[in-house]
Amino acid sequence: VTSAETDLRPAVGVIGLGRMGAPMARRLGDAGFEVRVFDVDPSVAARVALHPRITAVDDGRDTIVPAGALILMLPSSGVVRGVIDHLVTDPAGSIDTLAGGGVVIDMGSSDPGETCRIGEQMAESGVPFIDAPVSGGVAAAEQGTLAVLVGGSSEHLERARPVLAPLAGRVVHVGRLGAGHALKALNNLLSATGLIAAAEALAVGTRFGLDPGVMLDAINASTGRNNSTEKKFPAFVFTRAFNAGFTLDLMVKDLRTAERLAQLTETATPLSALVAELFSAALSELPEGADHTSVVEWVERNTGCRLEPGGNSSNF
Ligand code: NAD
Repeated sequence: VTSAETDLRPAVGVIGLGRMGAPMARRLGDAGFEVRVFDVDPSVAARVALHPRITAVDDGRDTIVPAGALILMLPSSGVVRGVIDHLVTDPAGSIDTLAGGGVVIDMGSSDPGETCRIGEQMAESGVPFIDAPVSGGVAAAEQGTLAVLVGGSSEHLERARPVLAPLAGRVVHVGRLGAGHALKALNNLLSATGLIAAAEALAVGTRFGLDPGVMLDAINASTGRNNSTEKKFPAFVFTRAFNAGFTLDLMVKDLRTAERLAQLTETATPLSALVAELFSAALSELPEGADHTSVVEWVERNTGCRLEPGGNSSNF
């Protein structure tokens, strides 16, 4: 391979190699991209770099490939801000090389207000920036079937499309910069509401003497079903694994983002406020690092019943 050919090969950077970033980087490598990765935890970066097309670098700045795409898959806007500040203060001006042909893609679930501020800052140096948060969790990240909710200009999205393709089952352009992050928070508000509502309904039924397995089966043939009753309860609750791969603290972050959006838009959302309050209480009472599906364990604790198929210990 000559150096000219090497230069022509598509390359992409990924910063943040957690539960989502690691499988996404691997999918890009599998799709034929040369991937440069960085994580603040060097051991996770080293593990991801076992892939033949993935290289771990020691500084986030070195993930930048001139005119390439840079994906951020970080826990929160606060962390994104820190990483962006580090990139833009590089005396070598590496991020400026993205102005011609490149794009920065924030694929984490960040705060839309902060996303707009970062977008304005990037626009000053002509660096394209879009928000492209994802839905579908670790399984969809591994299979490349994520739903990607894009905010930003169509022109910037077109630059990102080649790297989104191996990751996404669907790419939906939902609006201007920040729109993806806003919609992602609202989606997770719905998702969290469905999860805790299902837990409460099953707890009442269990105490009434019904079998949680029978109830779930019946609900999934009825109009009360949702993503949690169809997918999360069978895979992560009834198995007692509580390991969906999306932590409770990140869900609470998203619920707070949704709450700020409600305040910003002066929308009365009493139910959403209560859901955020309940998830926050569960976060403070469950062990650190608990999965978001553990909120069902928290409901079990508060209602004194165990949501297990086959068994019913109710003495109603
Ligand atoms: P995670 O906590 O598993 O991973 C975050 C990674 O970022 C970690 O490896 C951490 O070491 C790294 N990191 C932290 N600070 C850093 C820094 N300054 N520089 C470089 N790396 C840094 O989180 P996750 O579950 O992969 O989620 C990432 C984002 O995607 C979050 O915004 C989350 O809300 C969102 N999300 C997660 C899921 C899911 O199912 N896990 C689904 C959709 C969206």
